[in-house]
Amino acid sequence: MEKENNLPEERILPVIALRGLTVFPEMVINFDLSRKKSIEAAKTAMTENQEVFLVTQKEYDTQDPVLSDLYQDGTVAVIKQITKLPNRIMRVLVEGKERAQLLSLNETKEHFNLATIKIWEEPETKEDDPEETAMLRLIMEMMTQYASHYPKIAQSLETQIEETMSLSKILDRMAMNIPVPYDRKQMVLAAHTTKARFDAMAKILCEENDVAGIREKLSEEIKAQIEKNQRDYILREQMAYIKKELEQEDSYSDKELFEKQLSELTASDEVKEKIQKEINRFESMADSSSESAVERGYLETLLELPWDKMEKDTLDIELAQEILQKNHYGMEKVKDRILEFLAVKSLTEKENSPIICLVGPPGTGKTSIAKSVAQALNKKYLRICLGGVRDEAEIRGHRRTYVGAMPGRIAAGLRQAGVKNPLMLLDEIDKVSNDYKGDTFSALLEVLDPDQNNRFRDHYVEIPMDLSKVLFLATANSTANIPRPLLDRMEIIEVSGYTENEKFHIAKEHLMKKQYVANGMTKKILSISDKAVKDIIRYYTREAGVRELERKIGEICRKAAREFLQEKPEHISVTSANLDKYLGKQKYSMQMANKKNEVGIVRGLAWTAVGGETLQIEVNKMPGKGEIELTGQMGDVMKESAHIGISYIRSVASKYHISPDTFKKNDFHIHIPEGAVPKDGPSAGITMATALLSVLTGKKVYAKVAMTGEITLRGKVLPIGGLKEKILAAKTAGIEKVLVPSENEKDIEEIPQEIKDGITICYVDDMKDVISHAFVEDGRE
Ligand code: ADP
Repeated sequence: MEKENNLPEERILPVIALRGLTVFPEMVINFDLSRKKSIEAAKTAMTENQEVFLVTQKEYDTQDPVLSDLYQDGTVAVIKQITKLPNRIMRVLVEGKERAQLLSLNETKEHFNLATIKIWEEPETKEDDPEETAMLRLIMEMMTQYASHYPKIAQSLETQIEETMSLSKILDRMAMNIPVPYDRKQMVLAAHTTKARFDAMAKILCEENDVAGIREKLSEEIKAQIEKNQRDYILREQMAYIKKELEQEDSYSDKELFEKQLSELTASDEVKEKIQKEINRFESMADSSSESAVERGYLETLLELPWDKMEKDTLDIELAQEILQKNHYGMEKVKDRILEFLAVKSLTEKENSPIICLVGPPGTGKTSIAKSVAQALNKKYLRICLGGVRDEAEIRGHRRTYVGAMPGRIAAGLRQAGVKNPLMLLDEIDKVSNDYKGDTFSALLEVLDPDQNNRFRDHYVEIPMDLSKVLFLATANSTANIPRPLLDRMEIIEVSGYTENEKFHIAKEHLMKKQYVANGMTKKILSISDKAVKDIIRYYTREAGVRELERKIGEICRKAAREFLQEKPEHISVTSANLDKYLGKQKYSMQMANKKNEVGIVRGLAWTAVGGETLQIEVNKMPGKGEIELTGQMGDVMKESAHIGISYIRSVASKYHISPDTFKKNDFHIHIPEGAVPKDGPSAGITMATALLSVLTGKKVYAKVAMTGEITLRGKVLPIGGLKEKILAAKTAGIEKVLVPSENEKDIEEIPQEIKDGITICYVDDMKDVISHAFVEDGRE
């Protein structure tokens, strides 16, 4: 009847079914809930007194357990904390409270289970009970044995057991901490009396100790089987064997590989024979010798060179024209010449190609049109940059006797192209220079000479190569530094600087498209107004070509891309008014003509590597003893022109009523301000003479007149070059009249009308003509 009175307490709590986990009273543990029922149960518990019933399911994999899928015994626990994790996972921290038995399960409307449970009371501790003492000793002995196998686990368990703890609690702690399968732990949980709990735990420890003992014995046996010495011996033997195998395979396949490549090579018998000889030589060498490494490199080069391998060119003029037209604005002379070349080639099948050299300021599209030409002719494109090449060996290669010898750029280029008829661009041919290491120009001459280049010898390659099928194009900024013989081999096509209008078209039709694509912009996102483009050309760039212009457009695109992502506007429109937001302050102001006519100040026109420029020449006269000082960025030729001018003026002084004493009693100072880009050349001759004469006669010179021309000792005006750029510069500076040597008339005719509009061009033969145009007539301002 006692049992009746002592009826265990019954309760109803939300249930969480555990998989592979057993929670004991007094155990604090984290675990994740992913099943909806469990999450709902936890949530409900949180709204009540935070209590849940935790019970382990018999099979790990059961998705939706019913009563029979669950063990009978579980634990009432309190949820301490809930954390939501991604993917609808909920992490709960619980503390186990009491053992309880599951009586029934009911599913609620909210779809979680409510369990009716009865709570088991903890067994009472019996002080000084001999049976309990015996059990404690026994279990501790077993634990010591266990600790000898698993010291770390035992150590952590030790920290959790306190002296005053009852035996039943100690057993629970052991069950919590020893890693055994959950069904084993369940046995301890289901034991309600101390004795039953002892039995269960003792069984577990016994099994664990047995298994550990067997495991250790086994591993000892295995170790003993493999004697260390023997093992090392075997390994060493194996290694030696593998190495030998590999070496054999290597040397065998090398030769075989080379010979296979040789059999596939399109080359003359002569070349093939020579290569075969080299392969034989290579084979006879010791594998590890440095000689063999050199020979291998050499063979690889020989086998990769396109001896007789050709690629078929297109001869489709229409298509070629379309491609050229599409990629570049203007540049008509280059395009025409290429199409003519195509036409002649398709009619005559003639082999000797012309060598075209494009000469012009940087950024005018020389390199890029060469690429388009290759595309138009369906040729492999190969760029060899000659800028800064000083050593002949860079072109013709090093002899193989040098360590680290390499083929020259031409041979290396051909190897890279893989065919004998590519388009080879010799970029910046005017930047080649000679030094003590040999004559670079004569090496280039040999490359470009149609009589010799079918047997071009690279020092490294040694076997003559045929360059006669290569289509050479060259670029240069000016012909001044190219030696005559080399110049004679090439057909020069001048690519001059662009006018503002041309630049505008290039920007609109090519550069903007290119930069939009490069920077991920579209017209929908970014628009740049026409006026803004013109402003970029005028105030942010100063160049003959369009390279800086392209860079500036790129800069706008980049800034716009960032703005679009960060500030999320619907559309960005760049106009003249907000241009400074993207490009900063205007960089250049127009270098305008002076407003006032003055004595001793004359505007000349110069040609520099970046295009045309106006330059103002100033002359001062001061008391002295006939000395002449020249300052500013003047080259030697310019200084000579100054002296010629002075001599001429002295010779005609009387005609202009200048007393001969003037030259004895005065010093003259000629200066060219604003010399950021060094200028040289004879074309400032008439300008300096005019400025001198103006100072000597006290007559003013028109501010809106600019001039260019070389002067002779007798005052004749000689022709000069770079007229298109010069006229462009004059126009930009607001000059109205330009004086040009008569002999340049034909050049002026070639300049597009667009450039000449708004400028009066006067042809001059001698200084008298110059003066009649330049000097302000008496009585006028
Ligand atoms: P260069 O070789 O004359 O120094 P590049 O060929 O490198 O000049 O040209 C610089 C840039 O300007 C390239 O992006 C090129 O496409 C562009 N460019 C130059 N001229 C033109 C043109 N006429 N039409 C279209 N793009 C051009």
